[in-house]
Amino acid sequence: MEYRRLGKWGLKLSALSFGSWVTFQNQVDGKLAEQCLAAAYDAGVNFFDNAEAYANGESERIMGGALRNLGWPRDSWCVSSKVFFGCKADPKPTQKGLSRKHILEACHQALARLQVDYLDLYFCHRPDPETPIEETVRSMHDLVRQGKVLYWGTSEWTAQEITAAHAVARSEHLTPPSMEQPQYNLFVRARVEQEYAPLYRDYGMGATIWSPLASGVLTGKYNDGIPADSRLNLPGYEWLRERHQSEEGRRRIWVVQKFSAIARELGMNTGQLAIAWCLKNPNVTSVILGASRVQQLRENLGALAYLPRLTPAVMARIETAAG
Ligand code: NDP
Repeated sequence: MEYRRLGKWGLKLSALSFGSWVTFQNQVDGKLAEQCLAAAYDAGVNFFDNAEAYANGESERIMGGALRNLGWPRDSWCVSSKVFFGCKADPKPTQKGLSRKHILEACHQALARLQVDYLDLYFCHRPDPETPIEETVRSMHDLVRQGKVLYWGTSEWTAQEITAAHAVARSEHLTPPSMEQPQYNLFVRARVEQEYAPLYRDYGMGATIWSPLASGVLTGKYNDGIPADSRLNLPGYEWLRERHQSEEGRRRIWVVQKFSAIARELGMNTGQLAIAWCLKNPNVTSVILGASRVQQLRENLGALAYLPRLTPAVMARIETAAG
């Protein structure tokens, strides 16, 4: 495993990490979660990603139970949660957003579900236009001061919103955000590659990136239709399937077909090439993998070994294929 600093900060996260969105509770029960976490940890993964909203809190409960059963030293792994959406299908006004009340309550609830004394990383899952940035930054700062959170960050905030958070932190002597969690894959690049460039440079922010396989599309498994046992067929994810069946979705399959040909030539599978491509970006701290089976996870963890095969010439070919 390779370990990368969280931006300019001292925390070293595994370049490949493991998250539980969609999978835990819907596809992965406690026993399988334990097997997946063990496969990841044995390969050197030290960061497990979660959120209050995943399966309405059940994902954190499953991960917490599995981590407790596995019994690894707490100082050898990191776990995250995220606050914003709430952990109920229909949250009340005080049960969502980035108000001081919800940030503090959500943290306490995540600690209980994950069965830990502190969160290593705590993300504001989306920006909240109805809460002043001062209130959010101060609430996160207080959790850091209380030792309940080690590093706080944002997820899918604009560079402008993150810059505002840094400005408040600087003027009020509060803890600034250390990391962002954006989507990053061959299809979604602008924010990570362009919009956030000043954030890495000026604030030393780290990036833990999500959906490296665009929900599995970049494995090539959807090239000939939608397999019955896949994410795009899950109840509740019709929006993903509809996106896939749109004009843009069809364009993506055409790109994946070209991408698969390059992967074959390089002697790896399509998903491994997609993950290795994310790792080539030096501003990426950790690529968060998702998997509904242990075998998928093992395959994806194998991507790291292929990194040297992504030479400048190969990267240029991928660029052309991506259009
Ligand atoms: P991916 O884009 O890598 O998609 C993972 C899914 O692709 C798997 O669950 C599986 O779905 C399929 N897959 C993975 N590997 C293989 C393989 N080798 N062969 C075939 N199919 C495969 O990542 P996610 O979208 O799951 O995102 C990763 C993590 O990022 C999440 O778990 C979460 O922690 C985080 N995240 C954060 C967000 C945020 O807003 N901050 C938003 C979304 C995710 P299946 O088997 O069901 O087809």
